Amino acid sequence: MSRAVKAVSIPFHRASLGEEEVEAVAEVIRSGWLTMGTKTREFEKQFATYVGARHAVAVCSGTAALHLTLEAIGLQPGDEVLIPTTTFTSTGEVVKYLGGRPVLVDTDPVTLNIDACAVKRKLTPRTRALIPVHIAGQPCDLDELHAFAREHRLHVIEDAAHALPSEYRGKRVGCLSELTAFSFYATKTLTTGEGGMITTDNENYAARARMMRLHGIAGDAWKRYGKNGSWYYEVMEAGYKYNPTDLQAALGLIQLAKCDAMNEARRRIAERYTAAFRDMRALEPPTVKSDRKTSWHLYILRLHLEQLRFDRNIFIDELKEHGISTSVHFIPLHLHPYYQRAYGYRNGDFPNAETQFQRCLSLPIYPGMTETNVDQVIDTVSEIANRAKR
Ligand SMILES: *Cc1c(COP(=O)(O)O)cnc(C)c1O
Repeated sequence: MSRAVKAVSIPFHRASLGEEEVEAVAEVIRSGWLTMGTKTREFEKQFATYVGARHAVAVCSGTAALHLTLEAIGLQPGDEVLIPTTTFTSTGEVVKYLGGRPVLVDTDPVTLNIDACAVKRKLTPRTRALIPVHIAGQPCDLDELHAFAREHRLHVIEDAAHALPSEYRGKRVGCLSELTAFSFYATKTLTTGEGGMITTDNENYAARARMMRLHGIAGDAWKRYGKNGSWYYEVMEAGYKYNPTDLQAALGLIQLAKCDAMNEARRRIAERYTAAFRDMRALEPPTVKSDRKTSWHLYILRLHLEQLRFDRNIFIDELKEHGISTSVHFIPLHLHPYYQRAYGYRNGDFPNAETQFQRCLSLPIYPGMTETNVDQVIDTVSEIANRAKR
């Protein structure tokens, strides 16, 4: 190794939580009001302001957020929804929850996002919506996708599970489409353990999601039981139990206040990685288009396999042996047994997605990494790449 870095174990991810978060949660416990209440309201208000949306509706997961956005647009059984094959299964399963059909689209080999041209070939008379996923935090080609959606009267719902804070042409993700879904899962850039948020400028969608996240009851629990509330309520629909707790919201408020600083810390790590890997023939650092900003939720490194004597899996094993944990984002949906069984997809259906999947790995990138941790990742990746050179 070029530097004398003492090898330690570097986890793939560690959430950035401190005493402030501990204190905020303790305060909620002491208050006696645990579930959705005033903290949740405050979190929603601040989150909406942060992304520049009129409304924000907090829920218990990113998956619940995606589900309620499709519910809000009134997705019907048999409706088709265009989604990338390179994503987590949440993006597809929520379509199935409502009896719709997830229609997979191939991947842009540069950004790993949905291919904005390939979507056109998947259009049918049943297509109702499009869910672009901002992989690793880099926003999709939203102008192209919105133009396509307008032309064919499709709803656009962004899966922004990776995209806080991300920007597209000077605007933050969260205020760009009809509806946007965020995730606050433990590994995401803002975490509440589990949690999610829907943002929208549309008052009807917001009101619908608020009602459906709590059993389809008109009005929230904290209103019903609050000082001016009453015992009376009405069930308007068969809703869901998707509300968050004030414990989560308290965490979220602290995390939101740190969001810019955490993003800056990630950006610095990404810059160091890219500076180190840019000139190595076997490695391809991520490309971020000049009109957008990424959250750097993930740093997806790609290998030029033709330059190497061993494949991505062995590369990952070698890193692991040197204490560095990595991950892979994502195994394309069409390679999973469920999507093959339910929708007839086969290996080979989406060549770009498969090629990129075979050559990608995600390196650790989180604010808690020390300079020395980053050095160790750089040195180890470089050393393995050099050793593996053909
Ligand atoms: C994490 C994630 C989700 C789901 O979020 P949860 O909060 O875990 O339900 C959805 N889509 C993508 C792309 C994700 O990475």
